[in-house]
Parts: sequence; C-alpha cells; structure tokens
Amino acid sequence: MRYQDLSYWLSSLDAPLTPRPGLPGDTDADVVIVGAGYTGLWTAYYLAAADPSLRIVVLEKEIAGYGASGRNGGWCSALFPTSLPALARRHGRDRALAMQRAMHETVREVGRVVEAEGIDCDWRAGGTVVLARTDVQLGRARAAVAEAREHGLTDADLVLLDAAEAAARCPAEGVRGGTYTPHCAAVHPAKLVRGLATAVERRGVRVFERTPVTALRPGAAVTPAGVVRAPVVVRATEGFTPALPGQRRAVAPVYSLMVATAPLPESTWAEIGLAERETFSDYRHVIIYGQRTADGRLAFGGRGAPYHYGSRVRPDFDREPRVFAALRRVLGELFPVLGPEVPVTHTWGGPLGVARDWAASVGLDRSTGLAWAGGYVGDGVGTSNLAGRTLADLIRGEQTDLTTLPWVNHRSPRWEPEPLRWLAVNAGLKVMFSADEAESRTGRPSRRAAAFSHLLGH
Ligand SMILES: Cc1cc2nc3c(=O)[nH]c(=O)nc-3n(C[C@H](O)[C@H](O)[C@H](O)COP(=O)(O)OP(=O)(O)OC[C@H]3O[C@@H](n4cnc5c(N)ncnc54)[C@H](O)[C@@H]3O)c2cc1C
Repeated sequence: MRYQDLSYWLSSLDAPLTPRPGLPGDTDADVVIVGAGYTGLWTAYYLAAADPSLRIVVLEKEIAGYGASGRNGGWCSALFPTSLPALARRHGRDRALAMQRAMHETVREVGRVVEAEGIDCDWRAGGTVVLARTDVQLGRARAAVAEAREHGLTDADLVLLDAAEAAARCPAEGVRGGTYTPHCAAVHPAKLVRGLATAVERRGVRVFERTPVTALRPGAAVTPAGVVRAPVVVRATEGFTPALPGQRRAVAPVYSLMVATAPLPESTWAEIGLAERETFSDYRHVIIYGQRTADGRLAFGGRGAPYHYGSRVRPDFDREPRVFAALRRVLGELFPVLGPEVPVTHTWGGPLGVARDWAASVGLDRSTGLAWAGGYVGDGVGTSNLAGRTLADLIRGEQTDLTTLPWVNHRSPRWEPEPLRWLAVNAGLKVMFSADEAESRTGRPSRRAAAFSHLLGH
C-alpha cells in the first residue's frame, strides 16, 4: 500500500511521505501517546508547549496522518457529536452551552496555532452553509435555529437563510433556504496533520512511525520493537481502537467515504458559489459534506458504507463502489453544471469512531495513568484540538475551565457483543437511508428516523 493512495489529500502533499524511524528499543518517557492523528499530536503539542521539560513519545503504527486525520472532509467545525439539547438534558443548560462555546473557541484556536506554527494547510474560516432543498428540510433548518436560540446561541452563531440568501452562498439545484454558521474553517486535512507532526518535533517530542502498539497497560505501551515505560499512557487510536487487546467493544468503526473532482474552471465555480470556501451540507438524514478546495476541486463525502462484523477495520473497507457512485450522483443532483459524468479523479474513505451512546469523551484515570480521547463520530477535526488541550491540563494536574466541561471523564457504555452490534449499527444506517428516500417521495418527515435519532441521544 502506498500512503499517498489513502486519500486525495495525502496524494497532494509536496513533501514525501517517507516514514520516520521506528522505536529503537525500550525507552522511558513521562507521557507515551499511541496514535499520530490529530488527537495524539494535539495532546503532544499542548503538553510540550506547557512544559518543555516533559519527555513525550508518540508511537504510530504507520505514519502521522495515516488514519482519519489524513483523509477527512476538512471541516474544522464547532460541531460536537452530542447535540446541544441532548447535552442540556444530561448536564443542564449552562454546562451544555459552555461545551458549545468551547467548541466555537476551538475553531479559532486551531486557526491561531496554524498561523503561529506556520502550518500551510489552506485554512479558510468561511463558515458552513447547510442547504434545505425540500419543505421537510426547511422545517429541519427552522427547528435547528429555534433549538439553538432556546439553548442560548444567537444569530451570530447560527442564522436561518431564505432561498435567496442560501443561493447567494451556494446556488445548488432547488435550494429553498438553509442555515449559516461562521464557526467552521475549510482545511487541507493532511497538510494540517503532517504540519502538526513537524511542529511537535520542533518542540522536542519524539515521534516513532511504523511502530504498532500491541498492548497498552498502566505504565507501558508495548511494541514489537520494545516497551515505552511512562506513568501516563494516552490512547489516541479512534476508529482503530477495537484492534487493541481488551478494546473491541469500546467504539464502533463506521466508515465515511469521499470523492474529489478534478479542478473545476472558474465558470463552473460561478454556478456553484462557495466563494468564501464555505463548507457545505444539506438537511437530509444520511450525512453529506463538502468543501471547495484551495486548488478548485470539490471534495465531497458521506456516510452510508456498511459497518463490518466484529468491528473489523481493513484497507479494502475504505472503498465501496456503491457509495462512490451514490456520492457522484448526489453531486450531480446538487450541481447540474457538473454534467451527467461528474469528473471524479479520487475516491477514498476511512474509519471513524462511534461510542455506544454517541458521546465523545476525553479523560484520565488517575489510578492507572491511562488516558484517552475520541468517539468524535465525524466531528474530530475541531474536537480533537479541544481534547488535546484538555488532556494536557488533566495530565499536568491543572484544574481549568476545560477540565470541568461535561465530556471530561465521561464513560460511554461498551457496544453489544456481536451479532447484536452488527445488527444495530447497520439497521440504523438503513433507517436513515430509507427515511431520506421516503421523504423525497412523500414530502413528509420520517417518524422512524426521528425515533432512531432519539434512541441515539441526538
Ligand atoms: C472520510 C472521513 C471524513 C471525515 N470528515 C470530517 C470532517 O470534515 N470534519 C471533522 O471534524 N471530522 C471528520 N472526520 C472525522 C475525523 O477525521 C476524525 O474524527 C479525526 O481525524 C480523528 O483523529 P484521531 O487522531 O483521533 O484519529 P485518527 O486520525 O484515526 O488517528 C489514529 C491513529 O492511530 C494509529 N494507530 C491505531 N492503532 C494503533 C496502534 N495499535 N499502534 C500505534 N498506532 C496506532 C493509526 O494508524 C492512526 O494514525 C472524517 C473522517 C473520515 C474517515
């Protein structure tokens, strides 16, 4: 497998993807981090920034950015997998709002570090437009804004767009309205993760690649090349977590898949819009997401690939021709200017991590020194930064505004054993798909999908 084939993003880097050296042998450290995606690297970054004397080791089984961090849609958003109303139900309105505000701040923080560290990652804070193309979707857009108001957000956070306002940002076919939030930046995800790896090394963090961790235990991360002993061991393996001993039911790896078009001419962009490189989506159930890349492509993705029995993660699961064809079709429906044969040049995918209660979490067990962060579903680009800052505070024993946020030390229940897990996850996907089909046929909202969302705590 060539690393550059894992995504359009990894294929479009100037620097080669030559692996860093592996772990040379048994090593002592203050903190050992497993996984060199955003979570592991942000944690290393903030720890090293706060205390340059800490000996920090990052162990990565492939290369930095091999996982979802090198393959995602590049929305650095303030989205959090648990909705604001669900957070308010569980933790009260004030703590829910504090969580959401921390996510807003996170988008600005990533932008600040990108600039301070000179990470050239096509950062553009153009916000997100979510389109409504049917009455039902328009109803959902209105409800989203009403819900945001009810929970303390304002027009400066999320605003309803009428048809003309939505079309001014993105005149997709049949657009009837939508919503806009400024709290999102489009980013080249692989440039961000690779730039972060270099930035942490500049701060003295040791990153060892092609070093798979075969076991995590209090005080040690075990690899075939040697053991790293450290009082704090951080698990930052997200969708790959089930392959670690004892972690099979911790998160379910669910696949998200993407396509990218060839660079499109300005005349085409004049009809698609997104002049500020707003990230875009719509109010259907099965999530779709897109961005206008800095080099003028449409990078577009969606869920819908099946969950694989036993939480298996395999390179061939990254490719699902049926989903790629569906993504192409949806792009053509949204933007007829792309013509009947949407000019796709790249297709790829990757696993994301879903906790049983759909709740992302970050934490440190002080009695064992084992720390973790993840379960971001499809919202980890921003959330992992908040996780990294929070872990740095927890590990250094600091009590801060971050360490009291409601997701800290939250323990999600484990997933059911198979075959129940397989049945539940794939049934959920099916409900969402058939809900979208039924809605476009009948023009009425799907009750089954709403019931299912509640079941997931949305
Ligand atoms: C196609 C796709 C599109 C997405 N789009 C978006 C988006 O637009 N916005 C958004 O916010 N989120 C998005 N996400 C989710 C987001 O990419 C992830 O939440 C985020 O990258 C998770 O970062 P991470 O560091 O926790 O995990 P990862 O980036 O997956 O990193 C985990 C790392 O751990 C390593 N590892 C695993 N096991 C071991 C081991 N045993 N030993 C050593 N190393 C190990 C892996 O090789 C990997 O490098 C998307 C995900 C996918 C797949």
